[in-house]
Amino acid sequence: MYSNIESIIKILESIYSGTKTSLKYKTSFQLLIAAILSAQSTDVRVNIVTKELFGYYPTARDMLKLSVTDLENHIKTVGLYKTKAKHIIDACKILVEQYDGEIPSTREELVKLPGVGRKTANVVLSISKNIPSIAVDTHVFRVSNRLGLACADNVLETEKQLMKNIPKEKWSDAHHWLIWHGRKICKARKPLCNVCPINKYCDYYQKKSGVAV
Ligand code: SF4
Repeated sequence: MYSNIESIIKILESIYSGTKTSLKYKTSFQLLIAAILSAQSTDVRVNIVTKELFGYYPTARDMLKLSVTDLENHIKTVGLYKTKAKHIIDACKILVEQYDGEIPSTREELVKLPGVGRKTANVVLSISKNIPSIAVDTHVFRVSNRLGLACADNVLETEKQLMKNIPKEKWSDAHHWLIWHGRKICKARKPLCNVCPINKYCDYYQKKSGVAV
């Protein structure tokens, strides 16, 4: 007999196994830049912008050929583009000067880069470095707290509880499963609870339905 958490993980895995980030990139550097750009923006919008940007400026050294204003013009359809352009140019300088244009391999080093918070660092670590991590974005936060995989009012505590509740070997994949479940079914405003395959294990649904848990 599975616990609720085991059952949730098992069902999510059966539905979303093999799902990946929808950001498009060819290198760890490009993933980092796409992840920085994705804050307050959609992956679809970021992919439109980076298709051209990475075509002309695929590496940190290439991107330093741009001034902040040049970069702003390339990314101006993305939210917070002025701040992001400055962060990206400053981050590229550090990557070139301190890491020979490569991406550092630890969270401590990654979060020192301008524009890189814990979530972005975890995305890079799990996807590019194969280091198990759970990046808590808006979908992961909402879905995991509705389900009862976590019970927290902030992203750091949610991440800690998810790491406790989910087996380490599934951390990186589970992050994608929760994102895709949030996009497709557990939507922010109107979650599709009636067709959700894990509704019988979901705290939010059980409470909404008035079922004792
Ligand atoms: S039952 Fe509703 S709230 Fe719970 S995970 Fe499914 S869609 Fe989200």
